[in-house]
Amino acid sequence: MAKIQMTTPLVEMDGDEMTRILWKMIKDDLLLPFVDLKTEYYDLGLEYRDETDDQVTIDSALATKKYGVAVKCATITPNAARMTEYNLKQMWKSPNGTIRALLDGTVFRAPIIVKGIEPNVKTWEKPITIARHAYGDVYKATEMKIPGAGKCELVYTDENGNETRELIHEFAGPGIVQGQHNIEASIESFARSCFNYALDTKQDIWFATKDTISKKYDHTFKDIFQEIFDAEYKEKFVAAGIEYFYTLIDDAVARVIKSKGGYIWACKNYDSDVMSDMVATAFGSLAMMTSVLVAPDGTYEYEAAHGTVQRHYYKHLKGEETSTNSVATIFAWSGALRKRGELDNLPELVAFADKLEKATIDTIESGTMTKDLALITTLENVNAVNSEGFIKAIAANLAAMM
Ligand code: NAP
Ligand code: MG
Repeated sequence: MAKIQMTTPLVEMDGDEMTRILWKMIKDDLLLPFVDLKTEYYDLGLEYRDETDDQVTIDSALATKKYGVAVKCATITPNAARMTEYNLKQMWKSPNGTIRALLDGTVFRAPIIVKGIEPNVKTWEKPITIARHAYGDVYKATEMKIPGAGKCELVYTDENGNETRELIHEFAGPGIVQGQHNIEASIESFARSCFNYALDTKQDIWFATKDTISKKYDHTFKDIFQEIFDAEYKEKFVAAGIEYFYTLIDDAVARVIKSKGGYIWACKNYDSDVMSDMVATAFGSLAMMTSVLVAPDGTYEYEAAHGTVQRHYYKHLKGEETSTNSVATIFAWSGALRKRGELDNLPELVAFADKLEKATIDTIESGTMTKDLALITTLENVNAVNSEGFIKAIAANLAAMM
């Protein structure tokens, strides 16, 4: 059988620990036998990031801007323990943070639904995708502890030195205060990424804030979304048969729990931090959660939502058997290959991405799965396999489909 051809390279960002092991198995067993894989390879493994003073991360992000589509393996974000473990020159920043800052993107996280892994919320039939605004608010806040009685104000000084003041509180005794900010340009690019992704995936989009209480701050988010929607997206949404729906955050939470799923839920930074863990856990497993960074210029970077699965890697190093779930990493590859196929008009590549996902889901639904899923599945007669056995089982299904 002739291999499927590609025209533009995918930006391939390799990573760390157990996911780096899975990365190679996925390529060897699921991709290379079927696709004449063209990638521009960047090694974001911690050792090479350290060796290049993290330049490789920046280069990989710039390559993503150039080619438009990347696929990324999970990477270590160094902490004090990693400094010693890898004898690092510096505590390098999170690669995801660096890439996100360069691409100015929004992260969309969606669960992979399979029969036998049932959501805790009985009504959920389709995935709920969380869109996270990853700039500002409480994550860039300035805080003070107020030691005792006194006045606290917000002061804005414009470029000519004119001051505008708002009283925050007249303290009669000790207290606390916090100043948050956001910028219109960031909210605008968040809105555009959300609307583009909704069109791309043909799903409704919900957005919620607390504009009734926060009449300037949250209300600005609401207004910017509405203005951009009306000016640039309304007609496209009608044509695609999808909707933009705004409501208050507490109303949104209640509606999400009663819903069937099948939409994108755009949230402010803090709301999505909290809600994405709730949604991911309620859908069953972090190992079944995909993640894609979408930039306002239409650049895409696909990855798994989980980390490098350190505990399994240490077992692997000791020569012990592991049963690490590769589904989210496989779907990162299929997502990236499908997008590359769409952009380059390669229907065979798109069809391959669909088959790879189907082979993966069929494998689980026929009872062959890794231990994390075997522990929670409602299926009977389950065949719990190791990391490699799972990928080999998918490869057999895929070969039969090709
Ligand atoms: P993790 O990799 O998300 O794993 C935490 C635990 O979740 C695992 O020990 C395992 O539980 C379970 N798990 C996660 N993914 C799994 C999978 N594919 N298959 C089976 N079980 C899975 O988080 P971590 O081990 O705490 O963090 C390791 C490193 O990942 C850190 O250095 C962190 O900086 C990095 N990280 C990277 C990213 C990213 O690149 N996007 C995201 C998050 C974290 P059991 O041990 O109970 O089996
Ligand atoms: Mg969080």
